[in-house]
Amino acid sequence: MCPVPERYSIMSTARTLVTPKSLIRPEVLALSAYHVPPSSGFIKLDAMENPYGLPAELRAELSQAMSEAAINRYPDASAFLLKEDIRRLTGLPDGMDVLLGNGSDEIIQILAMALAQQNAVLLSVEPSFVMYKMIATFCGMRYVGVPLAEDFSLDLKATLVAIEREQPALVFLAYPNNPTGNLFDAEAVKQIIQASPGLVIVDEAYYAFASDSFIPLLSQFNNLLVMRTYSKLGMAGLRLGFLAGPTEWLSQFEKLRLPYNVGVLPQLVVRKLLQHHDVLLSQAAEIKLERTRLLGNLAHIEGIKTYPSEANFILLRVKRATDIFEGLKQRHILIKNLSGGHPALNDCLRVTVGAAQENDSFIAALKDTINQLAQG
Ligand code: PMP
Repeated sequence: MCPVPERYSIMSTARTLVTPKSLIRPEVLALSAYHVPPSSGFIKLDAMENPYGLPAELRAELSQAMSEAAINRYPDASAFLLKEDIRRLTGLPDGMDVLLGNGSDEIIQILAMALAQQNAVLLSVEPSFVMYKMIATFCGMRYVGVPLAEDFSLDLKATLVAIEREQPALVFLAYPNNPTGNLFDAEAVKQIIQASPGLVIVDEAYYAFASDSFIPLLSQFNNLLVMRTYSKLGMAGLRLGFLAGPTEWLSQFEKLRLPYNVGVLPQLVVRKLLQHHDVLLSQAAEIKLERTRLLGNLAHIEGIKTYPSEANFILLRVKRATDIFEGLKQRHILIKNLSGGHPALNDCLRVTVGAAQENDSFIAALKDTINQLAQG
């Protein structure tokens, strides 16, 4: 048999021609992956998780239920019972339906995939949740970010002008906003919904810690949908978010939801936990108390500006934010450094409200770091 010369081999041709650069869309090549830093060994105050575990009896109940779960079978694709529980506990107005996502991130993606017609725009405010821009970009929507006012409230006039100019198919407003922590003025949000030619998604990821919600207003606007997640209420590891709104819209988005996006175990465990909603709500109440205490403690540290929060985190502005972030890390405390990202967040740090002891350790480490930096 005559050997095939190297330059004629199919494999070597394929190797020289096919590269990620030649095949992958330029907008994807230009993206940076969402960064999740290693956190082992740290007091973890970077990702808005609920710091509390579950009571022993509830854990035993969960273990028992999980041991009997039919994990050899696909999950109920419609997650009917889970959706019923959510509908009831959320107090959805009549005629409103629920779409489930593997985290609310997945719902943002479903929405963007559905609405990414040629030249379609996804509009949000800035600074806000970075995944709006990232998902818009990789789903082929044009992203427009309208700057918030200096105090991070909505710049209503600029937002309305941008809506008129860009005619966005999709508007996202995080309510409360991440990473700033504030609730926007509800009347301004209503004006944005009214002025929008497309859908407005009010993202209530932090609803459990906030004093207001757009759920009761769902039936007032036919272009309003409300998105929530259970991640911040103590189920980040289960990955469950939902979109609430009229069936007319949700039945279209259902076509893009992959059939088994919520597994057997998440369906089972979330249902059990929702039966014990009171436990989660009392943990959220505890977090709100800790938020007040943490804000009070931060107010006593010179050189720190805090922003009001209706979420389970606090935004701080401080000189030498990156040095402080690193100093905290050396002291085994992990928070989020926002400095160097959006210009409005220069010298900003975001700390998740943890359990009392974690918050105390954070405050002690922060004071220690600031003292050390002052000594040069
Ligand atoms: N929306 C906002 C405003 C968020 O801050 C987050 C998480 N940081 C999400 C949505 C996504 O949450 P998840 O995918 O865990 O449901």
